[in-house]
Amino acid sequence: MSQKRDYYDVFGVQRNAGADEIKKAYRKLAMKYHPDRNPDDAEAETRFKEAAEAYDVLGDEEKRAQYDQFGHAAFNQGGMGGGAGFSNMEDIFSAFGDIFGNGGGGGGGIFGDLFGGGGRRSSGPARGRDLKIVLDLSLEDVDQGVDRTITLKQHDHCGGCEGSGAQPGTSKKTCETCGGRGQVQRSQGFFTMASPCPNCRGAGETLESPCTTCRGTGKKVAKNDVTIRVPAGVEDGMRVRVEGSGDAGEPGAPRGDLYCIIREKEHKMFQRSGPDVMTEIPFSFTQLTLGDKVEIPTLRGTVEMTIPAGTQSGKIFRLRGQGLPHVQSSGKGDQLIRVFVEVPEKITKEQRELLEQFDKLESEKPGAKNFFDRIASYFA
Ligand SMILES: [Zn+2]
Ligand SMILES: [Zn+2]
Repeated sequence: MSQKRDYYDVFGVQRNAGADEIKKAYRKLAMKYHPDRNPDDAEAETRFKEAAEAYDVLGDEEKRAQYDQFGHAAFNQGGMGGGAGFSNMEDIFSAFGDIFGNGGGGGGGIFGDLFGGGGRRSSGPARGRDLKIVLDLSLEDVDQGVDRTITLKQHDHCGGCEGSGAQPGTSKKTCETCGGRGQVQRSQGFFTMASPCPNCRGAGETLESPCTTCRGTGKKVAKNDVTIRVPAGVEDGMRVRVEGSGDAGEPGAPRGDLYCIIREKEHKMFQRSGPDVMTEIPFSFTQLTLGDKVEIPTLRGTVEMTIPAGTQSGKIFRLRGQGLPHVQSSGKGDQLIRVFVEVPEKITKEQRELLEQFDKLESEKPGAKNFFDRIASYFA
């Protein structure tokens, strides 16, 4: 994962900056890097997303407090949802509809003035926001596949009004300011610009009497348990989508989705390479010289393996099918075993004598090479 910039640095403000200062800084960046102003500019898009992500956290009292205490780590753990991070532009517009003046229903936001407003507002009620969390998995989890239940803090429809925002028994009425069009026309120099209606925030209708439970927002914050089924064989960085487990949308619109980003924990024994796993196993000089039968640890227990006499240090053996499952197809990867010689740090007097005798016999063998010749023939 790339290094994330500090959110305060993104805005160029002090850590004790007030909410207004942060909002102002965000508006400035968002305008500068807005995709409508920087078409096909990947750098601008990255900056725009970065700013949105930073504002998602610093613009929210609770998230900001968490961030101040734990930094980016506050949002990297599985568990509470609402962590920072947006996978696409639509997410940003739906998350900050009230600031952008579109997405979540229009309104005289900062872009209403600049870009004619509502440029990205699709017809019909907006679907709920997608949420993103990170799931930390061990290699054993990856091997078996795993069900993880997490508690998400997210938006649900208000129970009082079923999401409509209107007090039960009352209805919505056509907005008087815009006559139901959701937009108002304004002249500015030579141009006539349409901007979202400031009275109904682009919805075209207003509440006769707002729901007393949610004060007309139609939403409530809920904690929901979501079980994520992670298939065996997933890899670091993959995303598992749980359809319909994101935030509630506007009435009549579908919920957003939940995206779980897989992050693999390091294993103390196995290194992963796709579906294969690699283990480094120490052997004694005599084991490799004489050959041996040994129990090799695998992801799922042990298997017996024969090391032939005369095995060189650095040799790699392959145990077929002892790796990880393929995520898209059947079958499994292999386990690779790299053999290396472990040299004893202390030996007894008797061992020393035997080794000296061994060394003497080696050098007296017909055709025996001296140290230099051995190096030369190794590289030949
Ligand atoms: Zn309500
Ligand atoms: Zn209106």
